[in-house]
Amino acid sequence: MVKENPLLKLFVHPKIYTLEDSLPMAQWMLVQGSTILAMGQEKDPYPKEANGLDPVELQGGCVLPGFIDSHCHLHQYIYRHIPLMQNKKINVALPDSYKYWLDFSKVESKEAFLEKLQKEALSSKQGEWILGGGWNNLEILPHREELDRIFPYHPVFLKDASLHSGLVNSQALKLAEINESTHDPIGGRIDRDAQGFMPTGLLFEQAMNMVQKKIPTLPQKILALLLPEAMKYMNQYGIVGIHDMENFDYYEIFSALSWLLFQNPEEFTVRCLCSLTLESWQKYLDIGKTPGMGNEMLRFGHLKLIYDGSLGARTAYMNKPYPLSAYRGEELVSRSEVRNTVKEAIRRNVPLAIHAIGDRATQNIAEIFAEFHPNRLPCGMMHRIEHVQAAETSVIESLAKSGIAFSVQPIHIPSDLKSTASLQPHLLAHTHAYRDMIDFGKQYNVPLILGTDFPVAPIHPLWNIYSAVTRSSPVKGIKPSGKDKNCLTRKEAIEAYTSKPARVAGEGAIKGSLCPGKLADFIVLSHDILQEEDDAVLLDAKTKATYLGGKCVYQG
Ligand SMILES: [Zn+2]
Repeated sequence: MVKENPLLKLFVHPKIYTLEDSLPMAQWMLVQGSTILAMGQEKDPYPKEANGLDPVELQGGCVLPGFIDSHCHLHQYIYRHIPLMQNKKINVALPDSYKYWLDFSKVESKEAFLEKLQKEALSSKQGEWILGGGWNNLEILPHREELDRIFPYHPVFLKDASLHSGLVNSQALKLAEINESTHDPIGGRIDRDAQGFMPTGLLFEQAMNMVQKKIPTLPQKILALLLPEAMKYMNQYGIVGIHDMENFDYYEIFSALSWLLFQNPEEFTVRCLCSLTLESWQKYLDIGKTPGMGNEMLRFGHLKLIYDGSLGARTAYMNKPYPLSAYRGEELVSRSEVRNTVKEAIRRNVPLAIHAIGDRATQNIAEIFAEFHPNRLPCGMMHRIEHVQAAETSVIESLAKSGIAFSVQPIHIPSDLKSTASLQPHLLAHTHAYRDMIDFGKQYNVPLILGTDFPVAPIHPLWNIYSAVTRSSPVKGIKPSGKDKNCLTRKEAIEAYTSKPARVAGEGAIKGSLCPGKLADFIVLSHDILQEEDDAVLLDAKTKATYLGGKCVYQG
């Protein structure tokens, strides 16, 4: 009997899509440790190292490289999913305020909104924070005083789906020391009543931070205990990597990730590239840390800068005012500050990820980058612009010319098209203009990459890909609106979820496709999502297994 080498595994499947031009389709893959040693077609003999190995026959419609979500918020995701995790009886003592998260994503009227809160009032202890959010429509929001009637003694803090505006009651305002004489913070706005003094309870952008700061954070150790559950959840959807784009001070989650990787590497099942805020980056640079530092599991990523707000909160920075007002949205940091940061980051070889949604915001960022001609970064990472919801063709060309990767979230297309039609109809042709990004991207060799922005949207890659190829909602029963030039092909969308994000992270040599020398990160799907004709296959397909470095981390 031949003795089996535990470090070697031979995987076989009739359809292994490699996303490599030299061998687009393979039927077997020999893995040594966490890395692919050899691959081949049926006709190719196995290398001698495979002698005596029992092949692992992968069951399902096709094998693909594992998905990398290019834009998500891990910290917020954990907070949001604590209630779900609790059902799994994780043995963690949680602060009371984190036991519930009220979901308003399906609430469509003010009455239903208040009714949901009323139910919550019966079960929560006095003084606890009432947290939640998820709405897309500002029109359904109650006034602060209506919240006070239900919650006179609890602070309430709820956030819209985009996380760019929040609703609070008087208790929360009191704790945050916001009253009629408080000035709007830089990059934020406190909505006021008709006389212009008393806060209505609605807070925009940086004004939300004044409340956020008052909510007790989870101890690092508890975060580290919750992370494996979050990672397992992602593995279920075929996710093997994320680019985390946290908005708040990042130190907390980065430390929790490091702790987990050190203490319990077996449970660390999603590779993380972590962006940092300007403040955190300064701290790290000062102690000699550099971008790209880390290993294939956990790495320092981009400097994340949020330039404007969101369309949903009506804070995206536009060229033309929003209806019935002279208001054109928010610059959360001034153009001159962004310019200084870009200049300094380029000088220090720090990769940038700049959030810009409105057409004015994307235009200004393009102009600033064009001024400084960014070079290729020594860490191999690429500068990137996040969201790019509305951008003129010339702006997209200018960004591509400066070498800036486009990081977009197609799952928002249906709701963004709706908002654009009512708020900025002249921009409809320039909303999520992916064809311009792909075409100029080819010309200047910059990629388009996809993310979900979870927990802003569901984490589901196949739903996101469905929206990218149909520009429609993945909710079953909603008929796709018909293809146009901005619909990606399925291959383009899959590459934007695998090989392209790896390249933007400077990890193209080890991640994102399947070939000898790369990490054996792959998934098995129930259907062949590249071959089957109907796009609906993306909604029917399920992840049957997820492998990280050759090890099965999820089996459906
Ligand atoms: Zn985001």
